Amino acid sequence: MVGTYSVEGISGRPPYLDEKLGAWLERFKRSPLLVFWETTKACPLACRHCRAMAIPNPLPGELTTEEGFRLIEEVASFGDPKPLLVLTGGDPLQRRDLFDLIEKANELSVPVAVSPAVSPHLTREVMRRLKASGVKMMSVSLDGAGPETHDYMRMVNGSFESTVKAIREALEEGLRVQVNTVVWRRNVLELPRIARLLRRLGVTVWEVFFLVVTGRAVAELDIRPWEYEVVMRFLLEVSRRGLQVRTVEAPFFRRVKLGSWVRPVGEGEALLDRLQAELNELLGPPVQEADSAFIPTRDGNGVIFVAYNGDVYPSGFLPVRLGNVKTQSIVGIYREHPLLLAMREGRFKGRCGLCEYRLVCGGSRARAFSFTGDPLESDPSCVYDPLDERPVRP
Ligand code: SF4
Repeated sequence: MVGTYSVEGISGRPPYLDEKLGAWLERFKRSPLLVFWETTKACPLACRHCRAMAIPNPLPGELTTEEGFRLIEEVASFGDPKPLLVLTGGDPLQRRDLFDLIEKANELSVPVAVSPAVSPHLTREVMRRLKASGVKMMSVSLDGAGPETHDYMRMVNGSFESTVKAIREALEEGLRVQVNTVVWRRNVLELPRIARLLRRLGVTVWEVFFLVVTGRAVAELDIRPWEYEVVMRFLLEVSRRGLQVRTVEAPFFRRVKLGSWVRPVGEGEALLDRLQAELNELLGPPVQEADSAFIPTRDGNGVIFVAYNGDVYPSGFLPVRLGNVKTQSIVGIYREHPLLLAMREGRFKGRCGLCEYRLVCGGSRARAFSFTGDPLESDPSCVYDPLDERPVRP
Protein backbone atom coordinates (compact mmCIF):
# COMPACT_ATOMS: atom_id res chain seq x y z
CA MET A 1 0.00 0.00 0.00
CA VAL A 2 1.07 3.58 -0.69
CA GLY A 3 -0.87 5.71 1.76
CA THR A 4 -4.48 5.03 0.89
CA TYR A 5 -3.56 3.41 -2.40
CA SER A 6 -2.80 -0.02 -3.61
CA VAL A 7 -0.49 -0.68 -6.52
CA GLU A 8 -1.65 -2.58 -9.54
CA GLY A 9 -0.47 -3.23 -13.04
CA ILE A 10 3.18 -3.56 -12.12
CA SER A 11 3.91 -7.23 -12.14
CA GLY A 12 7.37 -7.49 -13.65
CA ARG A 13 9.40 -4.51 -14.70
CA PRO A 14 7.75 -2.09 -17.07
CA PRO A 15 9.45 -1.09 -20.30
CA TYR A 16 12.07 1.39 -19.24
CA LEU A 17 14.09 2.96 -21.96
CA ASP A 18 13.86 1.60 -25.48
CA GLU A 19 16.00 2.64 -28.42
CA LYS A 20 13.66 5.41 -29.49
CA LEU A 21 13.49 7.01 -26.06
CA GLY A 22 17.25 6.65 -25.74
CA ALA A 23 17.68 8.51 -29.03
CA TRP A 24 15.55 11.39 -27.72
CA LEU A 25 17.65 11.61 -24.58
CA GLU A 26 20.85 11.67 -26.66
CA ARG A 27 19.39 14.44 -28.80
CA PHE A 28 18.36 16.43 -25.71
CA LYS A 29 21.99 16.55 -24.59
CA ARG A 30 22.77 18.63 -27.68
CA SER A 31 19.56 20.44 -28.39
CA PRO A 32 16.14 21.15 -26.94
CA LEU A 33 13.01 20.17 -28.78
CA LEU A 34 11.25 23.33 -27.61
CA VAL A 35 12.60 26.81 -26.95
CA PHE A 36 9.97 28.96 -25.26
CA TRP A 37 10.51 32.69 -25.63
CA GLU A 38 8.37 34.96 -23.49
CA THR A 39 8.48 37.75 -26.04
CA THR A 40 6.75 40.24 -23.72
CA LYS A 41 5.05 40.45 -20.34
CA ALA A 42 2.37 42.67 -21.87
CA CYS A 43 -1.08 41.09 -22.10
CA PRO A 44 -4.61 42.45 -22.13
CA LEU A 45 -5.72 39.62 -19.80
CA ALA A 46 -4.85 38.98 -16.13
CA CYS A 47 -5.61 35.29 -15.55
CA ARG A 48 -5.70 33.92 -12.01
CA HIS A 49 -3.11 31.20 -12.72
CA CYS A 50 -0.80 33.26 -14.94
CA ARG A 51 2.77 31.99 -14.75
CA ALA A 52 4.09 35.21 -16.27
CA MET A 53 2.14 37.57 -14.00
CA ALA A 54 1.40 39.44 -17.21
CA ILE A 55 0.69 43.15 -17.09
CA PRO A 56 -0.91 45.63 -19.50
CA ASN A 57 2.33 47.21 -20.77
CA PRO A 58 5.77 45.90 -21.69
CA LEU A 59 8.42 45.99 -18.96
CA PRO A 60 11.72 47.79 -19.42
CA GLY A 61 14.49 45.46 -20.49
CA GLU A 62 12.36 43.45 -22.93
CA LEU A 63 14.53 42.00 -25.72
CA THR A 64 14.66 44.40 -28.64
CA THR A 65 14.04 43.28 -32.21
CA GLU A 66 17.80 43.08 -32.81
CA GLU A 67 18.30 41.04 -29.64
CA GLY A 68 15.40 38.83 -30.71
CA PHE A 69 17.05 38.27 -34.09
CA ARG A 70 20.29 37.28 -32.33
CA LEU A 71 18.37 34.87 -30.13
CA ILE A 72 16.78 33.28 -33.20
CA GLU A 73 20.24 32.94 -34.80
CA GLU A 74 21.42 31.20 -31.64
CA VAL A 75 18.42 28.88 -31.69
CA ALA A 76 19.26 28.01 -35.31
CA SER A 77 22.83 27.25 -34.27
CA PHE A 78 21.65 24.30 -32.16
CA GLY A 79 21.76 22.60 -35.55
CA ASP A 80 19.44 20.16 -37.29
CA PRO A 81 16.83 19.13 -36.46
CA LYS A 82 16.16 22.67 -35.24
CA PRO A 83 14.16 23.24 -32.07
CA LEU A 84 10.62 24.55 -32.32
CA LEU A 85 10.58 28.20 -31.22
CA VAL A 86 7.40 28.87 -29.23
CA LEU A 87 6.62 32.58 -29.12
CA THR A 88 4.72 33.11 -25.93
CA GLY A 89 4.10 35.85 -23.39
CA GLY A 90 2.21 37.75 -22.03
CA ASP A 91 0.62 38.07 -25.40
CA PRO A 92 3.05 37.86 -28.33
CA LEU A 93 0.54 39.83 -30.43
CA GLN A 94 1.49 42.82 -28.26
CA ARG A 95 4.88 42.83 -29.98
CA ARG A 96 4.83 45.06 -33.01
CA ASP A 97 7.73 43.14 -34.53
CA LEU A 98 6.08 39.71 -34.17
CA PHE A 99 5.95 39.04 -37.91
CA ASP A 100 9.54 40.29 -38.38
CA LEU A 101 10.63 37.77 -35.76
CA ILE A 102 8.71 34.98 -37.51
CA GLU A 103 10.25 35.98 -40.84
CA LYS A 104 13.71 35.87 -39.33
CA ALA A 105 13.01 32.39 -37.98
CA ASN A 106 11.75 31.33 -41.41
CA GLU A 107 14.96 32.59 -43.05
CA LEU A 108 16.94 30.34 -40.71
CA SER A 109 14.54 27.39 -41.03
CA VAL A 110 13.59 27.57 -37.36
CA PRO A 111 10.00 26.30 -37.02
CA VAL A 112 7.70 28.60 -35.05
CA ALA A 113 4.59 28.17 -32.90
CA VAL A 114 2.66 31.04 -31.35
CA SER A 115 0.64 31.22 -28.12
CA PRO A 116 -1.50 34.34 -28.38
CA ALA A 117 -3.96 35.52 -25.76
CA VAL A 118 -7.56 35.49 -26.93
CA SER A 119 -8.24 39.20 -27.12
CA PRO A 120 -9.55 41.63 -29.76
CA HIS A 121 -6.02 41.57 -31.22
CA LEU A 122 -6.49 37.97 -32.34
CA THR A 123 -8.45 38.73 -35.49
CA ARG A 124 -9.09 36.60 -38.55
CA GLU A 125 -6.60 38.76 -40.40
CA VAL A 126 -3.91 37.99 -37.82
CA MET A 127 -4.70 34.27 -38.08
CA ARG A 128 -4.41 34.47 -41.85
CA ARG A 129 -1.03 36.17 -41.53
CA LEU A 130 0.13 33.56 -39.03
CA LYS A 131 -0.88 30.81 -41.42
CA ALA A 132 0.68 32.55 -44.42
CA SER A 133 3.92 33.09 -42.50
CA GLY A 134 4.26 29.35 -41.98
CA VAL A 135 3.51 29.17 -38.25
CA LYS A 136 3.38 25.49 -37.38
CA MET A 137 0.95 25.63 -34.49
CA MET A 138 -1.17 28.10 -32.60
CA SER A 139 -2.06 27.27 -29.03
CA VAL A 140 -5.11 28.65 -27.28
CA SER A 141 -6.02 28.34 -23.60
CA LEU A 142 -9.39 26.94 -22.59
CA ASP A 143 -9.86 26.35 -18.89
CA GLY A 144 -13.46 25.27 -18.58
CA ALA A 145 -16.32 23.59 -20.40
CA GLY A 146 -18.37 26.76 -20.11
CA PRO A 147 -18.15 30.45 -19.21
CA GLU A 148 -18.67 29.98 -15.45
CA THR A 149 -15.28 28.38 -15.03
CA HIS A 150 -13.29 29.68 -17.96
CA ASP A 151 -14.30 33.34 -17.52
CA TYR A 152 -13.70 33.11 -13.77
CA MET A 153 -10.18 31.86 -14.44
CA ARG A 154 -9.52 34.43 -17.15
CA MET A 155 -11.24 37.18 -15.16
CA VAL A 156 -12.93 38.43 -18.34
CA ASN A 157 -16.63 38.05 -19.05
CA GLY A 158 -17.23 36.66 -22.54
CA SER A 159 -13.76 35.11 -22.75
CA PHE A 160 -15.16 31.59 -23.13
CA GLU A 161 -17.26 32.55 -26.16
CA SER A 162 -14.32 34.45 -27.69
CA THR A 163 -12.01 31.49 -27.12
CA VAL A 164 -14.33 28.97 -28.76
CA LYS A 165 -14.80 31.39 -31.66
CA ALA A 166 -11.02 31.87 -31.98
CA ILE A 167 -10.44 28.10 -32.05
CA ARG A 168 -13.11 27.64 -34.70
CA GLU A 169 -11.77 30.48 -36.86
CA ALA A 170 -8.16 29.36 -36.55
CA LEU A 171 -9.10 25.86 -37.70
CA GLU A 172 -11.08 27.36 -40.59
CA GLU A 173 -7.99 29.35 -41.59
CA GLY A 174 -6.06 26.08 -41.73
CA LEU A 175 -3.92 26.63 -38.64
CA ARG A 176 -3.04 23.65 -36.48
CA VAL A 177 -4.54 24.40 -33.10
CA GLN A 178 -3.47 23.01 -29.79
CA VAL A 179 -5.75 23.68 -26.84
CA ASN A 180 -4.12 24.20 -23.46
CA THR A 181 -6.12 23.52 -20.31
CA VAL A 182 -4.94 24.06 -16.76
CA VAL A 183 -6.37 21.46 -14.40
CA TRP A 184 -7.37 22.83 -11.03
CA ARG A 185 -9.94 22.17 -8.37
CA ARG A 186 -12.69 24.10 -10.02
CA ASN A 187 -12.57 22.36 -13.40
CA VAL A 188 -11.57 18.77 -12.63
CA LEU A 189 -15.17 17.55 -12.93
CA GLU A 190 -15.54 19.40 -16.23
CA LEU A 191 -12.74 17.52 -17.96
CA PRO A 192 -15.06 15.10 -19.83
CA ARG A 193 -17.10 18.03 -21.12
CA ILE A 194 -13.97 19.90 -22.20
CA ALA A 195 -12.87 16.76 -24.08
CA ARG A 196 -16.23 16.62 -25.83
CA LEU A 197 -16.03 20.30 -26.76
CA LEU A 198 -12.58 19.82 -28.28
CA ARG A 199 -13.73 16.86 -30.32
CA ARG A 200 -16.76 18.79 -31.54
CA LEU A 201 -14.55 21.70 -32.55
CA GLY A 202 -12.18 19.37 -34.40
CA VAL A 203 -9.17 19.99 -32.17
CA THR A 204 -6.80 17.04 -32.16
CA VAL A 205 -4.13 18.05 -29.63
CA TRP A 206 -5.00 18.69 -26.00
CA GLU A 207 -2.17 19.90 -23.79
CA VAL A 208 -3.16 19.53 -20.17
CA PHE A 209 -1.24 21.69 -17.72
CA PHE A 210 -0.94 21.07 -14.00
CA LEU A 211 -0.41 23.82 -11.49
CA VAL A 212 2.95 24.84 -10.18
CA VAL A 213 2.79 27.37 -7.41
CA THR A 214 4.53 30.20 -9.21
CA GLY A 215 3.37 33.47 -10.73
CA ARG A 216 -0.27 34.02 -9.79
CA ALA A 217 -1.06 30.33 -9.21
CA VAL A 218 -1.69 29.57 -5.53
CA ALA A 219 -1.61 26.20 -3.78
CA GLU A 220 -5.33 26.27 -2.90
CA LEU A 221 -6.19 26.05 -6.59
CA ASP A 222 -4.31 22.79 -7.03
CA ILE A 223 -5.77 19.28 -6.97
CA ARG A 224 -4.48 16.69 -4.47
CA PRO A 225 -1.83 14.10 -5.41
CA TRP A 226 -4.34 11.23 -5.59
CA GLU A 227 -6.45 13.37 -7.93
CA TYR A 228 -3.42 13.73 -10.18
CA GLU A 229 -3.27 9.96 -10.49
CA VAL A 230 -6.99 9.81 -11.24
CA VAL A 231 -6.66 12.51 -13.90
CA MET A 232 -3.73 10.62 -15.50
CA ARG A 233 -5.90 7.52 -15.80
CA PHE A 234 -8.73 9.60 -17.17
CA LEU A 235 -6.49 11.27 -19.77
CA LEU A 236 -5.29 7.87 -20.92
CA GLU A 237 -8.93 7.00 -21.53
CA VAL A 238 -9.37 10.25 -23.48
CA SER A 239 -6.49 9.18 -25.74
CA ARG A 240 -8.59 6.13 -26.70
CA ARG A 241 -11.20 8.46 -28.14
CA GLY A 242 -9.22 10.18 -30.86
CA LEU A 243 -7.61 13.07 -28.99
CA GLN A 244 -3.85 13.31 -28.63
CA VAL A 245 -3.19 14.25 -25.00
CA ARG A 246 0.03 15.68 -23.60
CA THR A 247 0.70 16.82 -20.06
CA VAL A 248 2.77 19.74 -18.83
CA GLU A 249 4.29 19.59 -15.35
CA ALA A 250 2.94 16.07 -14.82
CA PRO A 251 5.47 13.91 -16.68
CA PHE A 252 4.34 10.88 -14.66
CA PHE A 253 1.59 10.55 -17.27
CA ARG A 254 4.32 8.57 -19.07
CA ARG A 255 4.59 6.11 -16.20
CA VAL A 256 0.84 5.60 -16.50
CA LYS A 257 1.20 5.24 -20.29
CA LEU A 258 3.86 2.59 -19.68
CA GLY A 259 1.38 0.63 -17.60
CA SER A 260 2.16 1.49 -13.97
CA TRP A 261 -0.39 3.31 -11.93
CA VAL A 262 -1.49 3.59 -8.38
CA ARG A 263 -5.08 2.50 -8.08
CA PRO A 264 -7.13 5.00 -6.14
CA VAL A 265 -9.46 3.79 -3.43
CA GLY A 266 -12.42 5.41 -1.70
CA GLU A 267 -12.93 8.99 -2.84
CA GLY A 268 -10.36 8.59 -5.60
CA GLU A 269 -12.03 5.51 -7.01
CA ALA A 270 -15.38 7.32 -6.99
CA LEU A 271 -13.87 10.28 -8.86
CA LEU A 272 -12.30 8.03 -11.48
CA ASP A 273 -15.56 6.12 -11.96
CA ARG A 274 -17.44 9.37 -12.36
CA LEU A 275 -15.02 10.87 -14.90
CA GLN A 276 -14.88 7.66 -16.93
CA ALA A 277 -18.65 7.17 -16.92
CA GLU A 278 -19.17 10.72 -18.13
CA LEU A 279 -16.53 10.30 -20.80
CA ASN A 280 -18.30 7.17 -22.03
CA GLU A 281 -21.61 8.94 -22.08
CA LEU A 282 -20.30 12.04 -23.91
CA LEU A 283 -17.74 10.55 -26.28
CA GLY A 284 -18.89 6.97 -26.53
CA PRO A 285 -16.76 3.84 -26.24
CA PRO A 286 -13.04 3.83 -27.12
CA VAL A 287 -12.21 3.91 -30.82
CA GLN A 288 -8.54 3.03 -30.54
CA GLU A 289 -5.84 1.71 -28.25
CA ALA A 290 -4.57 4.06 -25.57
CA ASP A 291 -1.79 6.25 -26.91
CA SER A 292 1.41 4.87 -25.44
CA ALA A 293 3.78 7.19 -27.34
CA PHE A 294 5.54 10.13 -25.72
CA ILE A 295 8.64 12.25 -25.93
CA PRO A 296 10.63 12.35 -22.67
CA THR A 297 10.86 16.13 -22.26
CA ARG A 298 10.76 17.85 -18.90
CA ASP A 299 11.98 21.13 -17.44
CA GLY A 300 15.51 21.65 -18.76
CA ASN A 301 15.54 18.38 -20.70
CA GLY A 302 14.47 19.05 -24.27
CA VAL A 303 12.91 22.29 -23.02
CA ILE A 304 14.41 25.70 -22.28
CA PHE A 305 12.75 29.03 -21.52
CA VAL A 306 13.86 32.58 -22.29
CA ALA A 307 12.12 35.29 -20.30
CA TYR A 308 11.11 38.71 -21.66
CA ASN A 309 14.43 40.24 -20.52
CA GLY A 310 16.63 37.44 -21.88
CA ASP A 311 17.01 35.52 -18.61
CA VAL A 312 17.16 31.78 -19.22
CA TYR A 313 15.33 29.20 -17.08
CA PRO A 314 14.87 25.41 -17.32
CA SER A 315 11.18 26.14 -18.02
CA GLY A 316 8.67 28.90 -17.55
CA PHE A 317 7.57 27.36 -14.26
CA LEU A 318 10.99 26.91 -12.67
CA PRO A 319 12.41 30.26 -11.52
CA VAL A 320 16.06 29.24 -11.22
CA ARG A 321 17.97 31.66 -13.45
CA LEU A 322 20.65 30.00 -15.56
CA GLY A 323 22.04 33.01 -17.47
CA ASN A 324 21.00 35.68 -19.94
CA VAL A 325 20.98 35.60 -23.72
CA LYS A 326 22.04 39.26 -23.96
CA THR A 327 25.53 38.27 -22.86
CA GLN A 328 25.65 34.47 -23.11
CA SER A 329 24.95 31.82 -25.68
CA ILE A 330 21.74 29.90 -25.07
CA VAL A 331 23.45 26.92 -26.69
CA GLY A 332 26.24 27.01 -24.10
CA ILE A 333 23.78 27.46 -21.23
CA TYR A 334 21.59 24.61 -22.42
CA ARG A 335 24.44 22.18 -23.01
CA GLU A 336 26.68 22.98 -20.07
CA HIS A 337 24.83 24.45 -17.10
CA PRO A 338 25.48 22.11 -14.13
CA LEU A 339 21.86 22.16 -13.00
CA LEU A 340 20.63 21.18 -16.46
CA LEU A 341 23.21 18.38 -16.63
CA ALA A 342 22.02 17.05 -13.26
CA MET A 343 18.38 17.25 -14.33
CA ARG A 344 19.10 15.62 -17.67
CA GLU A 345 21.07 12.78 -16.11
CA GLY A 346 18.28 12.06 -13.62
CA ARG A 347 20.35 12.92 -10.55
CA PHE A 348 17.29 13.45 -8.41
CA LYS A 349 16.69 13.02 -4.70
CA GLY A 350 14.07 11.04 -2.82
CA ARG A 351 11.57 8.89 -4.66
CA CYS A 352 12.32 10.40 -8.07
CA GLY A 353 16.01 9.57 -7.61
CA LEU A 354 15.20 5.91 -6.94
CA CYS A 355 12.50 5.57 -9.54
CA GLU A 356 12.96 3.40 -12.62
CA TYR A 357 11.03 6.01 -14.57
CA ARG A 358 13.36 8.85 -13.68
CA LEU A 359 14.75 9.31 -17.19
CA VAL A 360 11.47 9.05 -19.04
CA CYS A 361 9.50 10.91 -16.37
CA GLY A 362 11.72 12.52 -13.74
CA GLY A 363 8.84 14.41 -12.15
CA SER A 364 8.06 18.07 -12.40
CA ARG A 365 11.29 19.79 -11.46
CA ALA A 366 9.33 23.02 -11.18
CA ARG A 367 6.89 21.59 -8.62
CA ALA A 368 9.74 20.00 -6.64
CA PHE A 369 11.35 23.44 -6.49
CA SER A 370 8.15 25.22 -5.56
CA PHE A 371 7.60 22.85 -2.61
CA THR A 372 11.16 22.39 -1.36
CA GLY A 373 13.35 25.07 -2.89
CA ASP A 374 15.42 22.28 -4.50
CA PRO A 375 14.82 21.52 -8.20
CA LEU A 376 16.33 18.04 -7.77
CA GLU A 377 13.91 16.92 -5.04
CA SER A 378 10.95 14.58 -5.62
CA ASP A 379 7.75 15.73 -7.29
CA PRO A 380 5.25 15.85 -4.41
CA SER A 381 2.24 15.36 -6.69
CA CYS A 382 3.27 11.88 -7.82
CA VAL A 383 1.89 9.14 -5.58
CA TYR A 384 4.08 6.40 -7.02
CA ASP A 385 6.54 4.79 -4.64
CA PRO A 386 9.37 3.04 -6.47
CA LEU A 387 10.27 1.08 -3.34
CA ASP A 388 6.82 -0.37 -3.01
CA GLU A 389 6.56 -4.07 -3.79
CA ARG A 390 9.41 -4.30 -6.25
CA PRO A 391 13.12 -3.86 -6.70
CA VAL A 392 14.64 -0.58 -7.71
CA ARG A 393 16.25 -0.61 -11.11
CA PRO A 394 19.92 0.46 -10.88
S1 SF4 B 1 8.53 8.97 -8.50
FE1 SF4 B 1 9.28 10.71 -9.73
S2 SF4 B 1 10.26 9.76 -11.55
FE2 SF4 B 1 8.95 8.18 -10.59
S3 SF4 B 1 7.02 8.31 -11.69
FE3 SF4 B 1 6.85 9.63 -9.86
S4 SF4 B 1 7.44 11.67 -10.55
FE4 SF4 B 1 8.13 10.18 -12.10
